[in-house]
Amino acid sequence: MSKPYRPYSQYLREKLGAKTYKLTLDAGFTCPNRDGVKAYGGCTFCDQTGSSSRAQDRRDSITDQLLKNMEKQRKRFKAEKFIAYFQSFTNTYAPVERLKALYDEACVAHPDIIGLAISTRPDCVDEEIIALIASYKERMQYVSVEYGMQTIHNRTLDLLNRAETFEDFLTAYELTRKYEIDHCIHVILDLPGESWADQMETADTLAQLRVQGVKIHLLCAMEKTPLAAQFLRGEWQPLDQEAYVSLICDFIERLHPDCIIHRVAGNGHHQHVVAPLWLQRKLELMNEIDAEFARRGTRQGDKCRFVATRLS
Ligand code: SF4
Repeated sequence: MSKPYRPYSQYLREKLGAKTYKLTLDAGFTCPNRDGVKAYGGCTFCDQTGSSSRAQDRRDSITDQLLKNMEKQRKRFKAEKFIAYFQSFTNTYAPVERLKALYDEACVAHPDIIGLAISTRPDCVDEEIIALIASYKERMQYVSVEYGMQTIHNRTLDLLNRAETFEDFLTAYELTRKYEIDHCIHVILDLPGESWADQMETADTLAQLRVQGVKIHLLCAMEKTPLAAQFLRGEWQPLDQEAYVSLICDFIERLHPDCIIHRVAGNGHHQHVVAPLWLQRKLELMNEIDAEFARRGTRQGDKCRFVATRLS
């Protein structure tokens, strides 16, 4: 049965013609929001692994991480082809020569690695770095950058100790479009102080910008984070599942129908979630989202205000 939104898995199948999975990497980066260059302590929701899936050991080489993870994915999902995914911390936060060496190693680690995906902060790219990433399009079938934008509202970014602005995102986004690189924008729902209307404004802006892909997260408290401490002190409460399902359906209805939905729930390391615990039941959540769209009789893009501007 077709999904009421455009899932990433379908996009990859159409583009690459094979069952393709991402292999997450921890390349040993840190983040300017942790080491004091921009701020100390990191974003309030970011844990000690730099928002990673914890599937890898940063002491292993890039090649070893990829090969170990590849075997697991082949057995578990019958995956055929793979994307090397630089996920943990800020994966453009190093001199360009170092970045090139790491990305090069990933691209030649195994012939079944046909793609490269790089996750980063928008304020940690410049034209030299974007040009480097774009250069991999000559040898890889898929090259993508993922930006943690989270919201368009700078007052919320301040509350999260994000130490960057929506304008930083716009600058990075413009460069990424200039070099025609696939991209995915991370957003978080239920951020502190944000009304329903604020969140819909973020969805409308993503639709207006015609971003290619979106990864949607619910704000959740991971172990040993400032947000978990706020939860344990009773200063922050997460949404319940029913409210999240309603909110994310509202959000997806406003996105452009061409936008690829990379994720609608969480990151896969649910055993380390402090709250909300219902987020551990990912399959149930995905089914509930489908059921809510069926109840409404709507799908992605039905409330998009910019639907005339379809991607080619
Ligand atoms: S920018 Fe990313 S890696 Fe850095 S603290 Fe925030 S979430 Fe963590």
